[in-house]
Amino acid sequence: MRDSGRIVAEILQILQEKAAVGVTTRELDFVAEAECLKRKAKPAFKGYGGFPYSICASPNHKVVHGFADDQPLQDGDILSVDFGVQYHGYFGDAAITIPIGRIDDEKKCLNEVTRESLAQGIAAAQPGKRISDISWAVQSYVESRGFSVVRDFVGHGIGQKLHEAPQVPNFGQPGHGSRLKPGMVLAIEPMVNAGCAEVKILADGWTAVTADGRPSSHFEHTVAITTDGPVILTLP
Ligand code: MG
Repeated sequence: MRDSGRIVAEILQILQEKAAVGVTTRELDFVAEAECLKRKAKPAFKGYGGFPYSICASPNHKVVHGFADDQPLQDGDILSVDFGVQYHGYFGDAAITIPIGRIDDEKKCLNEVTRESLAQGIAAAQPGKRISDISWAVQSYVESRGFSVVRDFVGHGIGQKLHEAPQVPNFGQPGHGSRLKPGMVLAIEPMVNAGCAEVKILADGWTAVTADGRPSSHFEHTVAITTDGPVILTLP
């Protein structure tokens, strides 16, 4: 899982470098797939439940599961890219939200808060604690900054399958759910909205957008619980 995590991180870093004004998410999708091929890894999302792309590309008010398309990225966009691979039978999964050109202060703040809420969630992923201690760490931090966490999508266990038990919500009171044990691996993935928490699904059946049209940010890491605490497997 360290190997699959490292591959995800490497490819996300390449996508981050390539994402710029005028580039399309379809181009980024091609790059992701080509980089998988080079590393003999399989894109985890393509074909998963019928999802048609290797990356989920969700700019601005798109929350998750956006389709790659031919719209050039514009100055001031934020683009969330969610990406996973399968390598030697094991999965890795991570997401980043990339500023395109110069972004406004609200988007900058939203991205910083989302990234930090992931850090807070990971810090709570200590052996002996419970799943909802992660949830509460994320939610309480996000709400203290005046943003909202999405309820409709949650993090998850990960291993020989992309999505395994337990679910890892980004909301909820502490002290509930499975106890965290060394050897568990979780994909922790706060989705944070500038406005209301509600989302709706577009006619493509996949793309989730904010109900109020305001921007959304998403950061994710695959995290192993060890006797020494949480270890991030998807660090570049
Ligand atoms: Mg995930």
